[in-house]
Amino acid sequence: MLAYLDHHATTPCDPAVVAAMAPWWSEHCANPDSRLYRPALEAAAAVEQARGRIARTLGTIPEAVIVTSGATEANNLALKGCCEAALDSGSPRRRLVSLVSEHRAVLDPLAYLGRHGFPVSLVPVQADGLVDLHQLEAALGDDTLLLSVMAANNEIGVLQPLAAIAALCRNRGVLLHVDAAQAAGHIPLAMDALGIDLLSLSGHKCYGPKGVGALLVRPELRLAPQLHGGGQQEGRRAGTLPVPLVVGLGEALVRAEADREARSARLGALRDQLWTGLRDLGGVEVNGVAPDGAGAPRLAHNLNVTVQGVDGTQLHRRLRRQLAVSSGSACSQGSPSPVLTALGRSRTEAAASIRFGLGRSTTAEDIDLAITAVAAAVRELRLSA
Ligand SMILES: *Cc1c(COP(=O)(O)O)cnc(C)c1O
Repeated sequence: MLAYLDHHATTPCDPAVVAAMAPWWSEHCANPDSRLYRPALEAAAAVEQARGRIARTLGTIPEAVIVTSGATEANNLALKGCCEAALDSGSPRRRLVSLVSEHRAVLDPLAYLGRHGFPVSLVPVQADGLVDLHQLEAALGDDTLLLSVMAANNEIGVLQPLAAIAALCRNRGVLLHVDAAQAAGHIPLAMDALGIDLLSLSGHKCYGPKGVGALLVRPELRLAPQLHGGGQQEGRRAGTLPVPLVVGLGEALVRAEADREARSARLGALRDQLWTGLRDLGGVEVNGVAPDGAGAPRLAHNLNVTVQGVDGTQLHRRLRRQLAVSSGSACSQGSPSPVLTALGRSRTEAAASIRFGLGRSTTAEDIDLAITAVAAAVRELRLSA
């Protein structure tokens, strides 16, 4: 039996979401931008309804929603779109600020922009994965155009203090972009109330389909489109709308929001059970905010640990037949996690780390299996060391 505990890499699409998408593939196939006949208008109405559901879940208005192919595209559109709009408007602000612990879907577009005239500052994070607000404040200058900060970290699950960060940005006239791929549908997130200017999300991280996501943008904000073509979505992102995927994203977010509190409570208890079992092995340390810390700002369904005194490659080789877990981000391809090294972990420690991502289908049996599998692997490796 293989326990799937890698919900930060992707979540299974909710069967109810698959059912909601079903009629929009073949039966109702019209292009929502065709507009002249009834099936096209029905498709357009389905898209509008989905936009409304996406917006409501994230605490903003439907006009804010730009449908994209996922959070990677949403991040690229947010960052490049704001930079290009600043160039067009003649704004003197050029600097982009972010955190060292961001996802590559933010860091790589920033590096690209850095090579094209937009200097980038990456602010370090503390040993618990949270940014120090004084340090962040000091990094925001008169030349700063935009700050990009993730809501929930994809490796260690920590939640950055968005309300305080948004206040800093507002006071300094800095745009705030939030990569909420791991947060949407998992924690309460009210974009407008928090004062977030741009927010990225991904369908497949919240029990929706792969290949769709959205960038939510405060409507009065100037954003240069990155895909030019048929003028869809008011020219903000050209390309025929994938109606089934958009319907699926709306359905997934509504459903994720509906069971969010109960799911967090259940998964938090399972996560605590997992942590207790692993801690008892000795030499196992949490990465990021401790799960048992008071009022800990972290995702309930995440646990990331470093196992001391074992070889990471050997550890993961022993686990992989029983556990689908990650040694870092699925996107960082083999090299030690830059997030864990940013927390002060050595390369060896980072390699001997395990990221657990619990989800809707996770059972107490999965957790027992995980504890047993890690215990056996660690015992064997420590004996042979
Ligand atoms: C998964 C993820 C992305 C990329 O999302 P896609 O929809 O797969 O492009 C971006 N940022 C974070 C934090 C993620 O976890």
